[in-house]
Amino acid sequence: MIKQSILIKSLKGIDMENIKKYIGYEPTTKCSVTGCENNADSEVYLYDYYDSTNEEFFEQDYTCPFICKEHMNINEEKARGEKIPRGSVRYPYTNQHYAQGYTRYQPLLEVYSEVFNEGLPVNNSSLRVDFTEVNAELIKYLSRNPELMYKLDPRKFEELVAEIFSKKGYDVSLTQRTRDGGKDIYAIRRDSIVSTLFVIETKRYSKTNKVGVEIVRGLYGVKSAERANVGMIVTTSSFTKDAIDFASPLNYELSLRDFNNLTEWLKEYK
Ligand SMILES: [Zn+2]
Repeated sequence: MIKQSILIKSLKGIDMENIKKYIGYEPTTKCSVTGCENNADSEVYLYDYYDSTNEEFFEQDYTCPFICKEHMNINEEKARGEKIPRGSVRYPYTNQHYAQGYTRYQPLLEVYSEVFNEGLPVNNSSLRVDFTEVNAELIKYLSRNPELMYKLDPRKFEELVAEIFSKKGYDVSLTQRTRDGGKDIYAIRRDSIVSTLFVIETKRYSKTNKVGVEIVRGLYGVKSAERANVGMIVTTSSFTKDAIDFASPLNYELSLRDFNNLTEWLKEYK
């Protein structure tokens, strides 16, 4: 019972850091059933929902995170119990701690093909059409598993941020940057009073690799040269103290956004 309520809290973004034991998928990942040498075919989730609040609970089943087709079929055949809210179902292989809810499977090919593909060649015109569809699913998935952002290809991460801003109603374009092959995102927010141009740089850094002041200074230079109104850095990591100190007196011109902000945005994306 306690575990359940902690997890629900986590869905609301109150305490992300403490609860995640997410086990990442790699192409060599095997079925988690003891003794099985098959490659995993699906990722396993514990799923539950609450009738009263319409709240869904969806978490990787850490007792059996990956499963092959064969064992998935046996698992379903031998399942005992009703798939109802607050009920619980017993399985031979999954949900070994008999948590409330029931098991669901997501084929790895569907879940991960887009996530792990090298950045697709995306140009400005295709960004709004093709990519949005890919992203709706990807973003839904990431919002449940924000830690997976660390596994995204940096190019893919740029596209993810571009898509989030597009969905927020900004006019977005991704522009090739010559320096390092990365792209800057230009996002224009229009309202009845004024239009604001944002130039956004993304840094898909690991959790421990903070964005330093030199990056922030560099973007401030780009913002000024491009006559943009706001320079924004969006990172999966966080910022060094120097970076924050540099940006804070410039808070109308510089905006630093980190993992927690991203997690919020992913959740707002509907
Ligand atoms: Zn198996």
